[in-house]
Amino acid sequence: MATRSNDDHPATKAAQALGDIEPITKSVTPPLYPASTYQRDADNQYRNGRVYGRPHNPTFETAERLLTALEGGAASLLFASGMAAATAVFLALKPGDHVVAPEVMYWGLRAWLKGSATEWGLSFTFVDATDTAAFARAIEPGRTRLVWLETPSNPTWGISDIAAIAALAHAAGARVAVDSTVATPILSRPIEFGADIVMHSGTKYLNGHSDIIAGTLTTAKADEFWERIKAVRSNVGAILGTFEAWLLQRGMRTLHIRVERASQSALKIARHFESHPLVAEVLYPGLPAFAGHKLAAQQMTGGFGGMLSIRVKGGEPAAIAVAAETRLWKRATSLGGVESLIEHRGSIEGPTSPVPLDLLRLSVGIEYADDLIADMEQALIMAHR
Ligand code: PLP
Repeated sequence: MATRSNDDHPATKAAQALGDIEPITKSVTPPLYPASTYQRDADNQYRNGRVYGRPHNPTFETAERLLTALEGGAASLLFASGMAAATAVFLALKPGDHVVAPEVMYWGLRAWLKGSATEWGLSFTFVDATDTAAFARAIEPGRTRLVWLETPSNPTWGISDIAAIAALAHAAGARVAVDSTVATPILSRPIEFGADIVMHSGTKYLNGHSDIIAGTLTTAKADEFWERIKAVRSNVGAILGTFEAWLLQRGMRTLHIRVERASQSALKIARHFESHPLVAEVLYPGLPAFAGHKLAAQQMTGGFGGMLSIRVKGGEPAAIAVAAETRLWKRATSLGGVESLIEHRGSIEGPTSPVPLDLLRLSVGIEYADDLIADMEQALIMAHR
């Protein structure tokens, strides 16, 4: 008797993209549907549920269903980018609603919240998201509608206590959304800790090959708020292209082995440079000396992720010089690809950034870890000559 697909390990579900076989050709990979419109039934109904390419695209459904299974949610939606996914959550709120958000988070979203979202009528309290008591002070019962979290938070990797903050938010009538881009569903599933919505920049680990821009949302409940988010995606047309949606599901098939490999290498690299004479500090949730380590160990399983930052002795000029001297670590923004990237965050985030100027963000790929260590070693030495 065949085993049941519900019992399959998430790695098995992902590798097989849920195991669907295309019924007409028997293809083991899902087809692409570029259609922008769908035929009505002769009696004027749309029984298959698909009307037009902006709200409906069957190519999205493989990645959406797989992500729902990996996150343990009720439904998922693909978006044109991580920013399109994140902003859809805020646009589903109403002007006048209050939101509590982290001080340290993906800088592009923070800028949008402080700019356009504030002009549109949302009000914000920004808090230290590693301090649960700060949420207790900031959440206003009946007025706060959303608590936004990002954990680990980019680029200093602070850990927020999702369960404790979700309990505070729910008691006050607010929802919790978590940008879980860095943790991925392999290492952390925020819905298990009480989150209502999980967001990913699919550009990063989910796709994993630095060749598409994409975003995702997964909901714990397909409720009225989720319907509002769906309407935002359709009405503003924040949809992913068909080919990008297909590439996203292809990338997700190797998510487990990429994330496991990147996590192992990141831990090795963090340990190697932790007491290096040319490094002031290594920020990585997997290091016992890191402030959020204990919480990360409870909230993350199977590793601490592929992202770390190093603070270089000698300040900003030394940090920029280190990035200039690397060969394998490519000087580029973004993260979560198979190739390792290095970035001086101060240069991209600008003068209002809370990020220290001596900080280099490292996105660890799937290369051989010792090669990455050797490349960083020589760059540190060259930069300090
Ligand atoms: N969230 C995090 C943690 C990110 O790092 C990024 C992009 O760098 C985003 C959201 C935005 O995603 P996208 O660039 O796909 O719009």
